[in-house]
Amino acid sequence: MEILLRLYEELNEHLAPEHRKVAFTHDSREGATVADVLRELGVPQGQVELVLRNGASVGFSQSLAVGDRVSIYPVFESLDVRDVIAERTHPLRCLRFVADTHLGKLARYLRMLGFDTLYRCDYDDAELATISREQHRVLLSRDRALVEERGLTHTWRVRATRPREQVAEVLQRFDLYAEAQPFTRCMECNAPIEPVTKNEVLARLQHDTVRVHERFWRCPRCERIYWQGSHYQRMDHLVRSLLRRESSENAE
Ligand SMILES: [Zn+2]
Repeated sequence: MEILLRLYEELNEHLAPEHRKVAFTHDSREGATVADVLRELGVPQGQVELVLRNGASVGFSQSLAVGDRVSIYPVFESLDVRDVIAERTHPLRCLRFVADTHLGKLARYLRMLGFDTLYRCDYDDAELATISREQHRVLLSRDRALVEERGLTHTWRVRATRPREQVAEVLQRFDLYAEAQPFTRCMECNAPIEPVTKNEVLARLQHDTVRVHERFWRCPRCERIYWQGSHYQRMDHLVRSLLRRESSENAE
């Protein structure tokens, strides 16, 4: 029984080079299920998020028929998935993160872009794994042993070494450009920040700040106050350049 397969993103690593990132014909026995085909390909079920059979989402136990077109997507949604399942009625999962102890700057950048990112400098590996598993947060780490050996499904091993390149890498890997909501989250503690009136925070501001700025936000958890000062201008420049990466990526 011949079916037409297409695997996406890192699932291609399981395939022979000539089958990577292209549709190819696969010969399976009559009545084979999605699980059977994955086994034949050597793709672990735990790495698969979504299987489309002739454009409709199906489970691993679905039996396949001659001529079916089957698209197999990894645990993380990327651009290809978005295109295919655009007609789905429910929104894509909102990705949240937990960052390893050596990724404090990356965590701050992700928060700056509005992404829910847990970080503490004293998490141990077991805590990071538990948070990822229980809260379905993507564990970000440069530690290969941590992301690959604890049976976690939501992980990304960060390749870049410099924080700005790390955040660009995460944006690209998870195709987060459209989801970014810059300056909506506290960079210190991750809580969503709220607008406040100048009067509410007047007593805590420097005279120069009061004189120049009118709009303020406050973190309800750690009480930090935000306004659009010179630091904001620099960060805004960075945010724009990070989110512009999208057009350059697509142009490739
Ligand atoms: Zn805060």
